[in-house]
Amino acid sequence: MKKLIIILLIIATTLNITACGNSENAQYTSEEYLPESDDQANITYRRNFVEGKTGYYFYDPMGYIQYYDFETKKTHILCNNPECSHEDEQCNAYSGGATLRYAEGDLYYVAAEYPAGDFYFWKKSGDGSKTEKLFFLFRLEEGEMEISSTLFCIHRGYVYYFLDVTEEDNIPVLYRRKLEKNAKAEVLETLEIETESYFEVYGCGTKIYYIVDNYAKENAHMEIRSYDIVSGEKSVEIESMGRAESYYFYRDKMYYTKEQDILERELKSGEEKVILSGEFSESVFVHADDKYLYFDNSRDIEERLEPLEHIAEKMKEWYQDRKVYIYDKETLQQVNVLSIPTETFADFNVTSNYLFLSIVDEEFRILDKNTLTNENPEWVRIYSPLD
Ligand SMILES: [Zn+2]
Repeated sequence: MKKLIIILLIIATTLNITACGNSENAQYTSEEYLPESDDQANITYRRNFVEGKTGYYFYDPMGYIQYYDFETKKTHILCNNPECSHEDEQCNAYSGGATLRYAEGDLYYVAAEYPAGDFYFWKKSGDGSKTEKLFFLFRLEEGEMEISSTLFCIHRGYVYYFLDVTEEDNIPVLYRRKLEKNAKAEVLETLEIETESYFEVYGCGTKIYYIVDNYAKENAHMEIRSYDIVSGEKSVEIESMGRAESYYFYRDKMYYTKEQDILERELKSGEEKVILSGEFSESVFVHADDKYLYFDNSRDIEERLEPLEHIAEKMKEWYQDRKVYIYDKETLQQVNVLSIPTETFADFNVTSNYLFLSIVDEEFRILDKNTLTNENPEWVRIYSPLD
């Protein structure tokens, strides 16, 4: 059911990416995480914002890209044309996509052209001044639904993505393409079992990590596989994470929950250890940065909301209980509990200097991480459609 909820959210709002540049760059063979060109996977859910070098980019409810400048602490629409009223598709800030990825100064997204319903992969410069249609992805015929291309990752000059509905029998395929105009698609893998689907793709160092979910299996089966961008070799990294467990990629590490345990895994070596066990009575989503671990109880609220007919009446009430438990990564002691009362689903994310909250169709807020251990750290609104 968690998968379904995620898919619904994706259909509602999404398309995503992360980015890279010149694949001849020698740095691209580095096994280390490169913040400018490797995937920004601290965005795990709706993927409607990214962190650039000097600010955030995010979608407003109308599909225009807004930019929050770290220095001026102001948000403006990503359009520098003084003649523009920012009201139609001609506006530089318009994308028509729903998720966004960033790499090396540029933005990437998937968006359709209507009435044909052809989906293309787009690139936009970080100042909004230049928009380029890179290549065609797929066409949606009437009644067809394609969901997975929304989960893509940009890594070291390529986009890695999967398509679930293709002309050939609904077999999901994992592809990659160079971030160039008219780049050809390379097939990296085709799933063989009809009940398997791709679920997430992340790039760090010389490897692309992706999750294959077999939803027909009794005690399911989220498997993590990898693709080595240098050797082309594919491996199974984790054979079974169970179903609907929370996972989080942070640079060269992965954190995930397994029953009562929270595990930390070094992606490169595959070494992993239990860092907390039996700590929470609620289901939590795990997030991380260099200093802290964050455990968000919205997962518990989602599980309570799962019988969909209860959503309307209960959602408001339950989201008032929303909390994020903050732990020091070194001592593994709880340092604070952040209360995040909202009336609806809000996507909590951890970025370099701020915590970031996007509230569905409403507003965006940030919280300075330097204030995290204060008694009442303050969320600051950086955008509202009413502003
Ligand atoms: Zn404009």
